[in-house]
Amino acid sequence: MNLIKGDKLTSEAVMRPKLSRRTALKTLFSTAVSTVLLQSGRKASAHDFKGYETNRGVLVDLTKCIGCRSCEAACNKEHGLPPPKIPFDDLSVFGQNRDGHTRRTDQSRYTVVNQFESPLWEQPLFKKIQCNHCLEPACLTACFVNAYTKTPEGAVTYNPEVCVGCRTCMVACPFSIPAFKYDSALDAQIMKCNFCFDTRLSNNQPPACVEACPMEALTFGYRKTLLRIARKRIRENPDNYVNYIYGETEAGGTSWLYLSPVPFDTVGFDTSVPKQPILNYVKDFLGMVPMVLTIWPALFAGIYLLAHRKNQYTANPSHEDLNDENHTG
Ligand code: SF4
Ligand code: SF4
Ligand code: SF4
Repeated sequence: MNLIKGDKLTSEAVMRPKLSRRTALKTLFSTAVSTVLLQSGRKASAHDFKGYETNRGVLVDLTKCIGCRSCEAACNKEHGLPPPKIPFDDLSVFGQNRDGHTRRTDQSRYTVVNQFESPLWEQPLFKKIQCNHCLEPACLTACFVNAYTKTPEGAVTYNPEVCVGCRTCMVACPFSIPAFKYDSALDAQIMKCNFCFDTRLSNNQPPACVEACPMEALTFGYRKTLLRIARKRIRENPDNYVNYIYGETEAGGTSWLYLSPVPFDTVGFDTSVPKQPILNYVKDFLGMVPMVLTIWPALFAGIYLLAHRKNQYTANPSHEDLNDENHTG
């Protein structure tokens, strides 16, 4: 386990919305989206919430991960999830990565590790995914019954007691993380990583997956400290890392951050995720319209398009990242 010294803690059947449904939404509500953006564009720039100072996070270093799946096993045990179809010690599971297919989180697994090959790196690369615990979660803002909570510790938690099963959060999430538990049709439930908030984070303990990692590929601590550590690793080992921290700005910033030795888009990262919080625009619009439920379909479409719009960027070396340690410190 990699835990930063000095940190004090306080306090499949995933039927994801199908492409056809998403395409239909785009067509049906594209006009409404334009309206949302036009009316809220100016206010979005005034957005000033940068997340909690106490926000914890995890730095995932792809150069250290060996794909042992200990983190998957620990998460499964911690949360009493069903046993996997392929045991955690069976690494043939990575064969499922062929043809670009990657395993996703679903109702029975809050985290998965996928394998990637890169001509730029001698060894196979492994990437763990889970909820990224965004600083300004699209899932939270999209949920009109307030089933989601962003805690000061950084976790984005979910309350099934108030969830109505609309699955807007699943569409809103730019990382396609929330999954729907379909065998509970009368008892709607979204399934996703909760940063081990109830069992660990709120009790001054790091997440189970971090604790289980034998390679210290996962480092837990304050997000601002993790950013400094990430920059230091890049600065001291420029041949080992792409000069970019995935999650520093994606979707307005996430609690889980990644370092990679090869360009992120070649190892399964969506580099088209907007840098602004997805819901910046829509939040302002929500404040202007009291009849939220009446206009919800239009907002729903806007949320989807904002979350998934293609916004190409080039991960150019950022000298500011390397030179301005005080930027986030
Ligand atoms: S990654 Fe998705 S589910 Fe997790 S906090 Fe961000 S928007 Fe919500
Ligand atoms: S933080 Fe907890 S819930 Fe999330 S992937 Fe790790 S062990 Fe699972
Ligand atoms: S436990 Fe650590 S080394 Fe093993 S797969 Fe997970 S992140 Fe990688």
